[in-house]
Amino acid sequence: MRQCPLRGFSPCTPAAIVYLKQQALSTHSGASTIMRKQAKVTHSHPTGRGIRTAPGGQRSALRGENATLSAGSPLLPAEIIRRLEPLYGPAAWQPRREPAPELVVTILSQHTSDLNAERSYEQLMRAFGSLEAVAQAPEGDIAEAIRKGGLANQKAPRIKGALRQIQAQRGSLDLSFLGDLPLEEAKAWLTAMPGVGKKTAAVVLCFSFGMPAMAVDTHVHRVAQRLGLIGPKVSADRAHEILEAMVAPEDVYRFHLYLITHGRRICKAPHPLCQRCPLASGCPTGMAQLALAQGEALPALRRGAM
Ligand code: SF4
Repeated sequence: MRQCPLRGFSPCTPAAIVYLKQQALSTHSGASTIMRKQAKVTHSHPTGRGIRTAPGGQRSALRGENATLSAGSPLLPAEIIRRLEPLYGPAAWQPRREPAPELVVTILSQHTSDLNAERSYEQLMRAFGSLEAVAQAPEGDIAEAIRKGGLANQKAPRIKGALRQIQAQRGSLDLSFLGDLPLEEAKAWLTAMPGVGKKTAAVVLCFSFGMPAMAVDTHVHRVAQRLGLIGPKVSADRAHEILEAMVAPEDVYRFHLYLITHGRRICKAPHPLCQRCPLASGCPTGMAQLALAQGEALPALRRGAM
């Protein structure tokens, strides 16, 4: 077990981690100001209810499994966006592609990279020419066309099944009617199709229609957990509702994009680069990491090794 560099905590225990977080909070000049500001903030809720932060930064609207958040002070989504925007640039919504192709690309992106999904879609179009033709093609042929993208035998029936169901219910692959439905109805319509989960539905509604549907992929889920926005045991599936309720509707698209980019570039899966992160002063994970790094540097400094 790793030895804690601070006296009174050896070996390193959860109590030591709490102590280190407190030390980091008390020595970080900006943190207490941000916490005080957060305690006063109320922002709009998609359902019309406000989410008011209680003194100390806890969100009183959060219940159940998410109520086990650390005693730290998670940043509010608006503040996260404010800090990440200078790093990643403005993110104004623009329609990416029509909803049916977006749906197919998102199914293709399951358990692979966006690049692989785009390549698979191009291969699909080269092989069949249109989504209408894909809907009529044998599953084996679809699987062959998308083989390089991975999980072809699972994705081919999902794609064909979704396309056939859209045609059966709507008479064509035109999904533009979804833009006229309330968000929850549009989600329910899409997730009623086999192989279409919350993330896939949210991507279609957010990227094709600009609706405030929060898509939670692996990056959004990991970064939100490290930031303390969701509890450590909250699944990606459940995180859709929690984060969507937490983020102002007009910010959902930017929040999603910034967290994905942040997860890829700085808050990486194995080792987050907290020392380079503009969210560190309000991130429980980052504060603990930085405090530990600081503590570990002290004995080395004393030994003259640095
Ligand atoms: S401080 Fe560290 S853990 Fe927190 S969001 Fe930034 S990189 Fe991730």
